[in-house]
Amino acid sequence: MKNVAVLGATGSIGGNTLDVIARHPALFRATVLTAHRQVDALVALCAQHRPALAVIADPALEAELARKLTSAGVRCEIASGHEALAAAASGNLCDTVVAAIVGAAGLQSTLAAARAGKRLLLANKEAIVMAGPLLLDAVAAGGGALIPVDSEHNALFQCLPAEGLASGKPTLHKGVRRLTLTASGGPFRGRSRAELADITPEQACKHPNWVMGRKISVDSATLMNKGLEVIEAHHLFGAAPDLINVVVHPQSLVHSFV
Ligand code: NDP
Repeated sequence: MKNVAVLGATGSIGGNTLDVIARHPALFRATVLTAHRQVDALVALCAQHRPALAVIADPALEAELARKLTSAGVRCEIASGHEALAAAASGNLCDTVVAAIVGAAGLQSTLAAARAGKRLLLANKEAIVMAGPLLLDAVAAGGGALIPVDSEHNALFQCLPAEGLASGKPTLHKGVRRLTLTASGGPFRGRSRAELADITPEQACKHPNWVMGRKISVDSATLMNKGLEVIEAHHLFGAAPDLINVVVHPQSLVHSFV
């Protein structure tokens, strides 16, 4: 039985993680759930998954969370703020941490989980882009493991020899000549600069193949996401930038290859 902290439980990755957890009750238990401001969504998830701890990142919402959990008949510990997120990620209620907070806000709790030796399932790509060596050192010092959740990197992880990444000191196998990430091209692939003049955030968030959170959807529409992913692959797999290339593959059938 793995006790899982889902950081960013109310998001796209968080929801998919909890779906997997709910399908395998003998293997996984969601012991910690966190959100930023979506109190009602967090309460609904707590009513379904009965965690030991619920954390709301915005401290101004802690009282509302407590009240609504009580009315929903959910009894669990409650905490708020970013220190509480880091404490939850490193505390003894979990052995596995799904880092699914979006953006720089996820860095502190991701590092805390790594330092505490948790099995760290990393979706929060911004953390490794911002602080690659620091995060890998923290994984190595903590003695836990780092598993990439970002689909392209998870595909590479599954294709590459097992040694390296789990130790927190990635070394690329000598036989590997190239890592290739695929890119769907997003909703605006093929449009000219003039055709992009009137696009809206809603159009940018309508990815042709995936339903994802708004930041990564916009990053996909601008292709910034692929830039982040090249940096992520560089750190995760210890690969020099010229070993990593990107191929546009609109069908998104293959996530990456080695
Ligand atoms: P979402 O926007 O759907 O969810 C973000 C989650 O983070 C929510 O639970 C949100 O809480 C919480 N959050 C937002 N801001 C803060 C903050 N300041 N402090 C604490 N918590 C916060 O994002 P995604 O699930 O799409 O993405 C999560 C991460 O996974 C990103 O780094 C993304 O790049 C990566 N990723 C996502 C993929 C996907 O398919 N969605 C694919 C590959 C990688 P609230 O709901 O209360 O706002």
